[in-house]
Amino acid sequence: MTKLCREVWIEVNLDAIKKNLRAIRYHITKKSKIMAVVKANAYGHGSVEVARHALEHGASELAVASVEEGIVLRKAGITAPILVLGFTALSCVKKSAVWNITLSAFQVSWIKKANRILEKEAGSGRLAIHIIVDTGMGRLGVRTEEDLLAIVKAVRLSKYLSWEGIFTHFSTADEEDTTLTKLQHDKFISFLRFLKNQDIELPTVHMSNTAAAIAFPEFSADMIRLGIGLYGLYPSAYIKQLNLVKLTPALSLKARIAYVKTMRTEPRTISYGATYIAEPDEVIATLPIGYADGYSRALSNCGFVLHRGRRVPVVGRVTMDMIMVSLGESEGKQGEEVVIYGHQKGAEIPVDEVAEMLNTINYEVVSTLSRRIPRFYIRDGEIFKVSTPVMYV
Ligand SMILES: *Cc1c(COP(=O)(O)O)cnc(C)c1O
Repeated sequence: MTKLCREVWIEVNLDAIKKNLRAIRYHITKKSKIMAVVKANAYGHGSVEVARHALEHGASELAVASVEEGIVLRKAGITAPILVLGFTALSCVKKSAVWNITLSAFQVSWIKKANRILEKEAGSGRLAIHIIVDTGMGRLGVRTEEDLLAIVKAVRLSKYLSWEGIFTHFSTADEEDTTLTKLQHDKFISFLRFLKNQDIELPTVHMSNTAAAIAFPEFSADMIRLGIGLYGLYPSAYIKQLNLVKLTPALSLKARIAYVKTMRTEPRTISYGATYIAEPDEVIATLPIGYADGYSRALSNCGFVLHRGRRVPVVGRVTMDMIMVSLGESEGKQGEEVVIYGHQKGAEIPVDEVAEMLNTINYEVVSTLSRRIPRFYIRDGEIFKVSTPVMYV
């Protein structure tokens, strides 16, 4: 293993990502393509490696949150279609065309201006567009048939744009009450029927995120947008208990003990605010991870890590770069491996449990893991690549 100076790292098990792709593949409609959603640095897992691996094992397109995230993938040599799911400022239209990055659009004025920009910048190439339909997410998208027809016409009339997709996004597909999801689906289908009735041929149609892909495989259409499930996490406890698809978490967070001491002298206070006072002879270990790494300060005096296959509590406040854990009366050694998220000797700290403690969702726990933590990629059971943050090279 590569020598780290600050011994905290993420292990990304690419074999798990391959398994998850396969499990979803068998579950959805045969002809549906899989778009791997690798926004936010692949939900903290590392976008370049995840994208490459996903494309090798069943995904055929990629989605990101910004043109910049797409350019990172292009610079790494990835040639598959890349869709930006959010709004893109007109100032980035030329750059998007040059890097062959597909944009989402929903306004006629934006389409006309984008076409004019590309007309002036001859040689930038054509810009591929997916149209967003808002059927109940209330975020971005056209909301009426009239607006949909207008933008479709505008895109088709634009010499420098090509219409390649149309999609909507579900807001409650991870919930037990399926009323709104079915309503959104029906609404989307009726928008599509309206276009077909005008003799408009449809490009790639997509709507499902992970939750819908699992709960409504019949909604898979031409393509699904697979995010959280790719990483082996379920969109919600409800989707998990449906037991329809077996997913394997890909990410573990590990560290080595930086220092161990037995609290023999006074004062026995631990960390900022002295919110924890150790017992005499309590063994305290210091770990090189803190809130700047994405280990939430809200886990102060409440998180756990695994040491020798046993849960040990975080004591005192989480600091920017370090935490302390109590080993109780057990011994511990400097340099020993601890698991912060993941498995150790039959014990586990699931990301889902950490999310629950933090009153949030697993998406936030993984996507906020800082880029300063090196990622180790495991393939065929072995570490084959280490990505160290550029700022440290
Ligand atoms: C993030 C995102 C997805 C992926 O959702 P998951 O729940 O992670 O599968 C799909 N579509 C859009 C529009 C998104 O923003």
